[in-house]
Amino acid sequence: MEERYNPQKVEPKWHRYWEERKLYKTELKPSDKKFYCLEMFPYPSGKIHMGHVRNYAIGDVIARYKKMRGYNVLHPMGWDAFGLPAENAAIEHGVHPSEWTYDNIDYMKKQLNRMGLSYDWDREINTCSPEYYKWNQWFFIKMFERGLAYRKSSYVNWCPSCVTVLANEQVIDERCWRCDSVVIQKELEQWFLKITDYAEELLQACDELKGWPEKVVTMQRNWIGKSIGVEADFKIEDIEEKIRIFTTRQDTLFGATFMCIAPAHPLVGKLVSDKDGLERIRARYGRMDEKLGLFTGHYAINPMNDERIPIYVANLVLMEYGTGAIMSVPAHDQRDFDFAKKYGLPIRVVIVPEESTRSLTLPPRGGGQRWGGDFQLRTYNSSLIEEAYEGEGILVNSGQFSGLRSDIARQKIAKFIEENGLGKSVVNYKLRDWGISRQRYWGTPIPVV
Ligand SMILES: [Zn+2]
Repeated sequence: MEERYNPQKVEPKWHRYWEERKLYKTELKPSDKKFYCLEMFPYPSGKIHMGHVRNYAIGDVIARYKKMRGYNVLHPMGWDAFGLPAENAAIEHGVHPSEWTYDNIDYMKKQLNRMGLSYDWDREINTCSPEYYKWNQWFFIKMFERGLAYRKSSYVNWCPSCVTVLANEQVIDERCWRCDSVVIQKELEQWFLKITDYAEELLQACDELKGWPEKVVTMQRNWIGKSIGVEADFKIEDIEEKIRIFTTRQDTLFGATFMCIAPAHPLVGKLVSDKDGLERIRARYGRMDEKLGLFTGHYAINPMNDERIPIYVANLVLMEYGTGAIMSVPAHDQRDFDFAKKYGLPIRVVIVPEESTRSLTLPPRGGGQRWGGDFQLRTYNSSLIEEAYEGEGILVNSGQFSGLRSDIARQKIAKFIEENGLGKSVVNYKLRDWGISRQRYWGTPIPVV
């Protein structure tokens, strides 16, 4: 035995020996105990980096350990090979993306083999090969046949220079994360998967995630975002139309001092004559960093108190959530508050924190006894508040519902709305259908002509 370990000499010899004998090929042996060891496939970006080394060394240790313990181990490897970098590199170097991708795979495969990892390369998969992605297409067609894959027109973040759709997370300060071009809003026909059909099922399944960190489960629940609220109709003053809003805070209905609709709301054409102004709102659609509104010149009637309130088109109202229209309650919603301040709109307090009512010399709560509807006007000057109070509390300035606690008021107001034909109670989810169109070449083709 040599005194010094010389990897350049020793390792190629044994790698060759392993390879010739197909030492890591997994044969089906139904009698053996099975173990499946799968690591996340790498993107064939060009070269293996230290993150890969760490990840795949850990997987290899586990696979080898199980093998030594007598398991029939399946340890495969593959390539997550579709994506924009291949296409950009192809444009830059004037080669086909498959050429760039397959060259990288060859190189990276050699590197993985030099690490001595125990993969069964006979089971290698590559997501950009038709033999693999035909199964993506098969799944797509199954979903299409069941109405779970569908096409609709929607606004997307669009990078004119990358010529692609960007996720919200890929837009940084209005610019493309990749090339820094200014991102625009573009209306496109998009393919969607109807995950919203499964909202309730997904939510129920959160309860079965035993041993998961509470933080992760909460994130999942919030992503699904179930809420129970009401849909209520606001008549438009001078035309024969109604605007339906969705809210989970019907206890604040009396505090609605204006109304906002999405730029793509079906009534926009009837309500807005300033087309340039509308375009400006549309260009900033869904951008939460800047609240932009355009007064339509029309008024709606609040169904609870028959008050006339101005109707705005606003960039922060999403067509995809609720009904594409909201009642704006600036005293109890910070976004509405900022909007009201910006456009000089009235702010009316209709909820006061329960604690603040204790110091008042008023009849105690309970026994069905109510406080007078106007008592808080003396102690709570709406024009002086500096931010919205979004919490729950006791209703004030709310007609027959004044003096009730928020949770009770929500039930009573929902009932009032239904009984008076002003709307209905509804369950809503924040979860949206999943947009899967990318408008690029180097991805699984949507198998529909
Ligand atoms: Zn770009």
